Amino acid sequence: MGFLGSLLKLFGGGGAPADRGLYYYVRCDKCGEKIRFRVDPRWDLAPSYEDGDQASSFSVTKHIVGQKCFRPIEVSLTFDRNRKESGRLATGGQLITAEEYEADNQRL
Ligand SMILES: [Zn+2]
Repeated sequence: MGFLGSLLKLFGGGGAPADRGLYYYVRCDKCGEKIRFRVDPRWDLAPSYEDGDQASSFSVTKHIVGQKCFRPIEVSLTFDRNRKESGRLATGGQLITAEEYEADNQRL
């Protein structure tokens, strides 16, 4: 019971909920605006079932709209069964790193 109890504690609760969000950054192809958005692996990912009832992969599609030109950027992310990112695709913009996002913001 002790082991199970600590497992339950690990997954279920106690303490403040940690921010499990993943942050991504895109740059708009049209106006160059950089936009940060958040993906919550626990809630945003849609499972796909290829065999059996164990989810074999997950995916999420986000439509990111900036403040400058209001053109939506579509970002599709795929994750493996362990919810590790396995693929990314952006339409209307480019995914950039946090460093690029920060660097450009400082220059402005
Ligand atoms: Zn734009």
